[in-house]
Amino acid sequence: MSETRVYQLAQELGMSNEEIIEKMDSLEILVENNMSVLSEEEINQIKELSNEEEGNGDNNLTEIKIADKITVQNLSQLIDKSATQVITKLIKLGVMASMNQEIDFDLAACVAMDYGFKGIRYEEDEIDDEIEIEEDRPEDLKPRPAIVTVMGHVDHGKTSLLDAIRNSKVTDKEAGGITQHIGAYEVEVDKKKIVFLDTPGHEAFTSMRARGAQVTDIAILVVAADDGIMPQTVEAINHAKAAQVPIIIAINKIDKVGANPDRVKQELTEHGLLVEDWGGDIISVPVSALKNENIDTLLEMILLVAEMEELKANPNRKAVGTVVEAQLDKGRGPVATVLVQNGTLKVGDALVVGCAHGKIRAMVNDLGKRVKQAAPSIPVEILGLSEVPQAGDQFVVVKNDKMARSIADKRKDKIRARQMKSSQKVSLDDLFKQM
Ligand code: GDP
Ligand code: MG
Repeated sequence: MSETRVYQLAQELGMSNEEIIEKMDSLEILVENNMSVLSEEEINQIKELSNEEEGNGDNNLTEIKIADKITVQNLSQLIDKSATQVITKLIKLGVMASMNQEIDFDLAACVAMDYGFKGIRYEEDEIDDEIEIEEDRPEDLKPRPAIVTVMGHVDHGKTSLLDAIRNSKVTDKEAGGITQHIGAYEVEVDKKKIVFLDTPGHEAFTSMRARGAQVTDIAILVVAADDGIMPQTVEAINHAKAAQVPIIIAINKIDKVGANPDRVKQELTEHGLLVEDWGGDIISVPVSALKNENIDTLLEMILLVAEMEELKANPNRKAVGTVVEAQLDKGRGPVATVLVQNGTLKVGDALVVGCAHGKIRAMVNDLGKRVKQAAPSIPVEILGLSEVPQAGDQFVVVKNDKMARSIADKRKDKIRARQMKSSQKVSLDDLFKQM
């Protein structure tokens, strides 16, 4: 068998020697010079890396399912890469992980996406049932408000920013309305609406996404100008990337001594985010949530990005959407805040939500006002469910309450059967342990 040297591989792949050596570096393959002999495995690794960097992997049509949490090793098997490759990829994403460490759905999705996988789904998200959701005709689609999530490191000002936005806009919308915490709220800017999920943090975001629900159109990444990119900032970046939603950077706390927005921009480049004033296409806005500075500019930028996204839905159909929050209220029974994602939700509608069902008895908006209907993107609290659903559960309006009940019952049976199976497995394992 003839030997292949660095320069020969470079010729074969139409690259410079330096490019090959760079790849070898990132793969941690020892290299002395252009004459170094490469093993077959090393050649394959380098080829694979250059393939994926060109973004032309042949995984485009491969559907994979990833669980809520997955170890690095299992992920590497799933996507047919070595654990070292996955670990290297994770380092590039700013995450240090060992082979046996568990990473979450979004991070795993980021890695898989980098390898060209497209159809990445949550493992347990089986869409079953006899519910058929018909496609919309393009002419029935109308513009809808953007749904925005605020993410970032702890103490960088997520809550403060959400408060600042809310206080600046909500109150002048409707006199007399007292803002209620329902998990999401609407603001109006230049006569256009924007909806904010007001449960900051990625946990809600990830758990919803992991359950197959994507309720975010735009992610606001809050970075404190006096602190810079921190671990949870990196996590947030990865979540937004996995969700494939546009990111707007809010560089917060610019009022503080020691605030250094340029450092933030510099650090962002290390995570593949190049801001506009540095020649990139990521919008960044310096703000102070505390002093209410530049909040209007941030809102305008959100509208701008929303416009480019051309977000649309069909208001003239039965509603489907997602639960944002839910709890048992002493006086009112099960209460859920839902975001309508398509169609219009109305009082009196029968719906299935996870394993719950019901007929909507009343709806309340983010100002605590009773409303009769909710259009696409609009958050409302709904009353009248048989039990408390979970955040991330999808709801679907069906013909009548009888049908809703029968679908919910079937789902419950399925879950019970699954639980039985898994508890049998555990007891069998236990048996072996005792032997
Ligand atoms: P979260 O953990 O990201 O939700 O951060 P918070 O909104 O709770 O803010 C953390 C701390 O930073 C609080 O003490 C805020 O008052 C403070 N803070 C938030 N925004 C600003 C700002 O723009 N300027 C200054 N100086 N402090 C801020
Ligand atoms: Mg907070």
